[in-house]
Amino acid sequence: MKQPQESIVFYYPHGHQSHAEAGHPERPERVEALRQALQQAGWWDVHPQVQPVQPPLDLLQSVHQKRYLELLPEVSRRGQRLDMDTYTTPNSWQLALNAAGGAIATADAIWRGQARRGFALCRPPGHHATPGRGMGFCLLNNIAIAAEYLIQLGGAKRLAIVDYDLHHGNGTQEIFWRRGDVFYISTHQSPLYPGSGDLDEIGAGDEEGATANFPLPPGTGDQGFHELLEGCILPLIDRFQPEMILVSFGFDPHWRDPLGHLQLSAKGYGELIAGLVRWADQNCQGRLALFLEGGYDLEAAAACGQAVTAAMLGVEWHDPLGPSPRPEGSSWQINFRRARQICKSSGIPAQHHKRKGLAMSTVVLRWIEGKMMSGTDSNGHSIVIGRSPEQPETFVGVKPSDLLLLAAASCSAYDVIEILQKQREPLQDLKVLCSGEQLSTPPYTFTHIHLHYIVRGNVKSERLEKAIRLSEDKYCSVISTLRPGVAITSDYEIKE
Ligand SMILES: [Zn+2]
Repeated sequence: MKQPQESIVFYYPHGHQSHAEAGHPERPERVEALRQALQQAGWWDVHPQVQPVQPPLDLLQSVHQKRYLELLPEVSRRGQRLDMDTYTTPNSWQLALNAAGGAIATADAIWRGQARRGFALCRPPGHHATPGRGMGFCLLNNIAIAAEYLIQLGGAKRLAIVDYDLHHGNGTQEIFWRRGDVFYISTHQSPLYPGSGDLDEIGAGDEEGATANFPLPPGTGDQGFHELLEGCILPLIDRFQPEMILVSFGFDPHWRDPLGHLQLSAKGYGELIAGLVRWADQNCQGRLALFLEGGYDLEAAAACGQAVTAAMLGVEWHDPLGPSPRPEGSSWQINFRRARQICKSSGIPAQHHKRKGLAMSTVVLRWIEGKMMSGTDSNGHSIVIGRSPEQPETFVGVKPSDLLLLAAASCSAYDVIEILQKQREPLQDLKVLCSGEQLSTPPYTFTHIHLHYIVRGNVKSERLEKAIRLSEDKYCSVISTLRPGVAITSDYEIKE
């Protein structure tokens, strides 16, 4: 084996073994398998390890809500669960702080030029942790905290987070949803937990385009991942020009993983990281670091861990596990074509859809021959949404009051309904009735639906407002997906 040409730092989460629950897939052996594999390859003992820093409280509070940061130590002290999936032990709070602090130390070492790359074996993992809650085995969002540290204390202006875990990093996405300085890009199996990460989730407000999602159907393997990297991810990164690339590294897209159905090989994983490394070497002084997220097969851990480290070190490596024994599916090509369309129209600041108060009203829409939707709102205004049958290229009409419906009807009805149904606070003023079925017609996905959406009075709910905002954002992205190149005016009119 050739000598490493590049220097790297590691972070090992000392004491992480006491965050464990019998029979749970997120177990200490995952990190130990990685460490042993890196030892066997001769890299672990020759490269320095960083020590975790204590994350400053105001930094933590800029990522997570104060209420959650008070709740988590309390839940942890009692060893309770945050949800069905997510356990804690009396040591979990301190270990979560360590993992976040290790992520910071790793990112900081690279940012300040002490090393060219970094590999933080963070545990507990982080990318599902949202501002307000831990979920999906994650307690604190390590990579988001590291990115925030570089921006607030390191002076970074533009960072890219590439999430190569099997699952969508809903927490990281939510944290940076309205931010133009952190570009969040995710590939993930879909459908799968946590259900988010549609192609049309591209960020919000003026910073629309600084989020990119590439949901992948089961069976996607090395070729699909490779095409996506070359055709979408690297061009997007190139347009954004980050000063450092942070990677959420889960080894669960590997074909051996028990929780997923993607078919990436360890060699394929290494090539993805090598592609990012090449970009970083040419554009941002090689600054790139990996942060451990999920992955549940220990042999895949060892192979993927070696593959990505070899890629970061620029050395050759042989994959003992080889490619998936199952042939790679081809259904990712449909998503890929849609993804290419979105990439082409992405990255344009969306000043044209400034927030407006939405007057919600009762609206019933019906599909007409699968081409358009029409209906009448409670003020007697008729609504037509869809491609005009006379001029199939014309996309006609909407008003702000229809936004939620349009967004719901166009792509993600179930997201909106799900958000509304998940309301913890009682919503006396809100009633949602929905029936319908999803009708996919690539490259567009419409929802065949009869939807009654009723809001009475002034509903004051942060979550509802958020659901509406989300819908509004989706509406804009739906329009630009359907009609690349069109703009949407501040009155929500479509402008060529
Ligand atoms: Zn995962």
